[in-house]
Formats: sequence, structure tokens, C-alpha cells
Amino acid sequence: MIELPESIVVSGQINRTLVGKKIEKVIVNASPHKFAFFSLDADRYPMLLEGKTIRGAKSFGGQIEVEIDDMHLYFSDGASPRYFAPDETLPLKHQMMIRFEDQSAITVTIAMYGMMYLYPKGENKNPYTVIAKEKPSPLQDEFTYDYFKGLISSCPATMSIKGMLATEQRIPGLGNGCLQDILFNAKLHPKRKHDTLDETHLRQLYDAIRKTLPEMVNRGGRATEKDLFGKEGGYVPTLYAKTVGTSCPACSATIMKEPFLGGSVTFCPRCQK
Ligand SMILES: [Zn+2]
Repeated sequence: MIELPESIVVSGQINRTLVGKKIEKVIVNASPHKFAFFSLDADRYPMLLEGKTIRGAKSFGGQIEVEIDDMHLYFSDGASPRYFAPDETLPLKHQMMIRFEDQSAITVTIAMYGMMYLYPKGENKNPYTVIAKEKPSPLQDEFTYDYFKGLISSCPATMSIKGMLATEQRIPGLGNGCLQDILFNAKLHPKRKHDTLDETHLRQLYDAIRKTLPEMVNRGGRATEKDLFGKEGGYVPTLYAKTVGTSCPACSATIMKEPFLGGSVTFCPRCQK
């Protein structure tokens, strides 16, 4: 799933690799997928995109916005684009394929679920996108400690830290994937109720957000995700599926995973209180 680090990394790669390429052919839903979501009637994508040129890409929250002349194409969640040079073989199954005049291409193969929304520029009124564009990114200076405390004070008192940070787009692009290491670095348990946090805890949490996310970006995204070229990111999380049952690098306790909020949480039972 694309989260904030990957949307930044992949949009940067699109800017360096695809800008100026003219689209020759678009195929949508070649392998129909129940959880591949399109904005307009998917049949219209070829007509709206063929003959047009990639102008640039931006990221906000966990979304990638690609400017294609008068259109904006959005990738998010499990819809991550993959680039293929002219001499590379394309995957047989995909939910979207865009081939360029130079015979290079991108394909999207959905993992779990994913969005590939297409809108004329300025007409994306999807709340998911609107909110992500309005709110400051945790990588920006506008994401101040006071702003962060304001976000928290608007949450119900009994809400868990996980619920507070990773739901309702409170911090767009910060999902369950990034959350685990942020809470590990903040030494806070994901199930803990947020109204039990004192000023010191809040500061730890804020500092962990401001430190962990840039580190993920600087290393090319998380190792659990692949970039535009199909390469895994260089940030290997401390807490994720593969480290469950192994020893915590800080205290040697066994890293645990428990079901929570319709998903799961991974944590060190000794370091995170
Ligand atoms: Zn530990």
C-alpha cells in the first residue's frame, strides 16, 4: 500500500522518467479486479488520455497526482505504477497499462485494493483528495507541534493512539504501515488511549513522526513496497510482518502482533508503554 513515503518517492521518479512522454495506447481493466476503482466510466480512459503528454507528478498524503495535459490521473492505496523500458516484458495481468510512443510503458497491478481516478484538471472533488491537499504534510514546517496537539484534542478521549494517528485522514498518508515504527520510536503502545498521554509523551510522538517519515523518504520508501522500477525501498521497518517473533533491537523482548481495530498492531511489549 502506498503511504506518504512511497507517494513522494514514486512521484519524484515519475518526474525524472516520464515527463515529456506522449501516450500512444491505454488499456484499462485487462484483468478485471473487484477492488480496482476508477472515477469515470473506465471505458473512457483511452479516449481521454491517448495522444496526451505527461507533464509532471506531485504527491500529497498517500496519493500520487500525475498531470497529463488537461487531465489529472491519481494513484493511491494498492495502485502503484510500475515502469517498463521499451525492451522489457510487460506483465500479462494488469488493471491499467499506459504505453508511450517510445514503446516504454507503465502498468498498474492492484494489491488488495487501489484507486486509479481520472479527472479533468481541477475537477477532483473526492473528499479523500481534497482533505489530503488541504492539510499540511508532516514533512512540512507547517506541521508544528501546536498543529499536532490541535489534531489530537479533536479526538474522542477513549480513542487509541493508533486510531488517532492512522484513521480518518487525520494525517494524510500516515497509515498502518508507517505507524508501527513511529510508535516504536515514540516508545508508545498503539492501543494506549490518547487521553493518558502527558506533555512529554505528546512531544515524543510528535518528534517520532517528524523523524521517522523523512527517514523513510530518504531511503527510497519502505522495503515492504516497490518503487516505479519495481525495486524495494531501502527503509527496512523495525516492526512489520517479518520481524514479528524476532527480538526487539533495543531491548531483546519478542516483537508481538495482535489483532486490533479491524487490522493488527505490531509492537515491542517492553519498549512501548
Ligand atoms: Zn523493545
